[in-house]
Amino acid sequence: MTNIRRRYQINGIVQGVGFRPFVYRQATALQLSGWICNSPAGVELELQGSSADLDSFDHVLCHGTPPLALISSLLRTDIPPGEETGFSILPSTGGAADIRIAPDSATCDDCLRELGDPTDRRYRYPFITCTNCGPRYSIITGIPYDRPLTTMAGFPLCSDCQREYEDPGDRRFHAQPIACHNCGPQVQLRSATGVSLGTREEAILEAVRQLKAGAIVAVKGLGGYHLAVDPCNHTAVALLRQRKERDEKPFALMAATIDAARALATLTEQEEQLLTSPEAPIIIVRKRDHTGLSPLIAPHNDWLGLMLPSTPLHHLLLGEHFNQLVMTSGNSSDEPVAYDDRDALQRLSGIADCFLTHDRPIHIRNDDSVIRVFQGGPLFYRRARGYAPRATPLPFAVPPLLATGAELKGAVCLASGTTAVVSQHIGDLQNRSTYDAFTHTISHLSTLLEIRPELIACDLHPDYLSSRFAEESGLPVIPVQHHHAHMASAMVEHGLEGDVIGLIFDGTGYGTDGTIWGGEFLIGGYDRFTRAGHFRTIPLPGGDAAIREPWRMAMSYLYQALGEEAFTCGHPVTSLLPDADRPLFAQMLRRGINSPHSSSCGRLFDAVGALLNIRHRVSYDGQGAIELEALAEGAQEDLPPSDEEYSYRLLYPDSAPFQVDFCPLIRELMAHTADRIPPATTALRFHRTVAAAATEACRRIAAESGLNHVILSGGVFQNRLLTEMIYTALTNGGLTVHTQRVVPPNDGGIALGQAAIAGRRTT
Ligand code: ZN
Ligand code: ZN
Ligand code: FE
Repeated sequence: MTNIRRRYQINGIVQGVGFRPFVYRQATALQLSGWICNSPAGVELELQGSSADLDSFDHVLCHGTPPLALISSLLRTDIPPGEETGFSILPSTGGAADIRIAPDSATCDDCLRELGDPTDRRYRYPFITCTNCGPRYSIITGIPYDRPLTTMAGFPLCSDCQREYEDPGDRRFHAQPIACHNCGPQVQLRSATGVSLGTREEAILEAVRQLKAGAIVAVKGLGGYHLAVDPCNHTAVALLRQRKERDEKPFALMAATIDAARALATLTEQEEQLLTSPEAPIIIVRKRDHTGLSPLIAPHNDWLGLMLPSTPLHHLLLGEHFNQLVMTSGNSSDEPVAYDDRDALQRLSGIADCFLTHDRPIHIRNDDSVIRVFQGGPLFYRRARGYAPRATPLPFAVPPLLATGAELKGAVCLASGTTAVVSQHIGDLQNRSTYDAFTHTISHLSTLLEIRPELIACDLHPDYLSSRFAEESGLPVIPVQHHHAHMASAMVEHGLEGDVIGLIFDGTGYGTDGTIWGGEFLIGGYDRFTRAGHFRTIPLPGGDAAIREPWRMAMSYLYQALGEEAFTCGHPVTSLLPDADRPLFAQMLRRGINSPHSSSCGRLFDAVGALLNIRHRVSYDGQGAIELEALAEGAQEDLPPSDEEYSYRLLYPDSAPFQVDFCPLIRELMAHTADRIPPATTALRFHRTVAAAATEACRRIAAESGLNHVILSGGVFQNRLLTEMIYTALTNGGLTVHTQRVVPPNDGGIALGQAAIAGRRTT
């Protein structure tokens, strides 16, 4: 039988995920000779044996790789046979594996079994991990990915761990973060002043006692601190709200097991799948009644943010002690989540009563990912732990570049060749600490990926900190229009080339004409776009104040729809204005003083929320729209289909973008409110009207342009009800509709689009 030899060059997430031991096991089982090593390009290997055995190896390579491995390219060449006998793992040849550092991963089932096995040497060890699970991105300080360049560098392996580390047949072969009771990190419970209240098992048990007594405990997780509290203890939850200065934004819960999660919410199959995945994100799910949870967990909201434990420490803390805990990000409002121990103690000492911490440093903060299921797939609200820094393929090659994102929900993107890597969610770039996190993420990610940007893409808005960063970098800067970037982001995800129609609905984005855009109908591709149409532009009285205070938007819409009658119509929003301010405010509306013009879709939702008296002021971004959606969802079954929509107008001026005018809607909605139609019905009818207008306008563009691919992007498409309506209507009309599945439709996904547009402009 003739021997043949094959050389493989494999790229993707193949380092630090048990890929080499996996190949070793397959090769030795098939009695193939050769070698494997990590290389700057990924993994290289040569195999020699019968052609049948090599074919069986290829089959396994396609179908049975380790759970965290992700092969992006595989190059296979036949070469002349060699001399060696047996199979060996050669030392790394240095350099990074392409652009592939694995994300952090939740504890695997094998480790979980050992964690609960009294005969195992890692029984109840809070840092149990193996090649298939545990921390990665958050502990890597440099490349190549080896223990000395992780935050485990300070924990030399004991002889037992060393043996496992060196045994290619062991689940822990070359797993960099492994450790045990004898050689690894340990937990400690500290008081708010830093005094030790216990270590190891004792620390966990004392934390449990404190939580049962209603205390707020800061818990160190994979990518940062959480604040934990017993969600059934109303007083404790109220205290957390008060100390965190967070009035109404829902708190996420961690359920001990999937069964515990089922008791809190009705879960679909996809939701269960995502909850139990190694990424362990927060899933927004429909909450059950009578769960015993404090109503302060998610006020005015039928939905609940739910996740399962992502570290062994979480398993030990909840375990037999709690079915669920509040696990909200360890920060006060507006700040990035705390991850550094000293910083956490300082920033959280006014909130937490004690700290369940440990001595394995977190190198880079990485918040929990937040996802909602839409049409059987994920719809990202926040993309971070578990997903970043996973790469996204670009449909064409780009030079090494950085895209800095926008302002809210910051995330950056580094790209080179046909690979783009979007960073973890950083936060709203509106303060010093978030800006520091932004610059740290850029430098860390470019080190890990070995990308030295030759140019920078940023938002067209000159005042965003992310745009100023680009301006000050000294590199060539390519500003990208906000909604064009949203559109391109979705195009990249779906590998689209050529022209598409983009329905880009969001809150705020700087337009090419200096006005604020946000209800946009675009046509174009990566290299250019035209604004086919937009929502009718209306003044935002008081500028940014109009975002925080939706009653201002309600007044603005009333004025557009009713004219002077707006001031005398008697709607409750008119009374929010102190009498003394009335003339000035009226002038603002009449003359547009201190009132930038905007076609924002988000502001329309805000205005309607205020007109329905749901919310005159918001305490977090998107609150008005979220509550309006929740209200509408409650009504869905009661509304006769014959009574579907309000009126709107599509205005087609000569040689200018068309406008969607919702003033008729506002007038009818006012009449409805006067007739005491339930707000839920009105809210649903409003959703249907926006969907109908968007659909009609889109169909018209499609008919005129002959294009049939439609992108839905922008923060408004986090609204599942509206997205579903538009998606269904357009799909039924024969168009192909694409929503965002890989990065968020909100500004957290914008850097990906900026990268593609800037990259295309240079090629
Ligand atoms: Zn494991
Ligand atoms: Zn050990
Ligand atoms: Fe946006």
